[in-house]
Amino acid sequence: MARYTGPVCRLCRREGAKLYLKGDRCYSDKCAIDRRGYAPGMHGQGRKKISEYGIQLREKQKARRIYGVLEKQFRNYFAKADRQPGVTGENLLRLLERRLDNVVYRLGFASSRTEARQLVRHGHFTVNDKKVNIPSYSLKVGDVIKIKEKSLELPRIKELLEQAAHKTPPAWLELDVDQHLGKVVAIPSREEIDVPIEEHLIVELYSR
Ligand code: SF4
Repeated sequence: MARYTGPVCRLCRREGAKLYLKGDRCYSDKCAIDRRGYAPGMHGQGRKKISEYGIQLREKQKARRIYGVLEKQFRNYFAKADRQPGVTGENLLRLLERRLDNVVYRLGFASSRTEARQLVRHGHFTVNDKKVNIPSYSLKVGDVIKIKEKSLELPRIKELLEQAAHKTPPAWLELDVDQHLGKVVAIPSREEIDVPIEEHLIVELYSR
């Protein structure tokens, strides 16, 4: 599937926000948005007036980029969220949060969602003891995500597990570093989803 493969820091600069797409670098003083916190390109530093539509569009793009989802897939998530009872914007974020690559990242088994997606694709995880290599796999309450025994021998996985031991996952996930597994214990509430997204703007965009 086609995917953006250009410089990712450019995406943060375009959105004017840290999207944490590069793992450890995002927390260092090398972060591009800390160094050049204006939009990329020749007119990046110019004065700009943004329309209501532009604001809504940027919010949707930001969400897509944070979760690494393509437009068509994102629309499908929105359609699904819209069919569910409750607040559509919150439903949308809950669906995105429950993606396997996001949960791997939230558990600390990867330093970014991009790395999580790659590790999932390479088959390093099981869900309920079955190998799953689909990053968009939607997890439900009770699902157990585990790093495969064989993968534990890889230096990068070892390093990530050591780092995970010092992190606290959100309350809707349970982490057991010794057993190299995590569990979905609840559906996340909006307060537990710490992404800088105003989801109502996305709903307004798609309701036009
Ligand atoms: Fe965004 Fe991370 Fe690049 Fe900073 S280092 S601009 S947060 S991807």
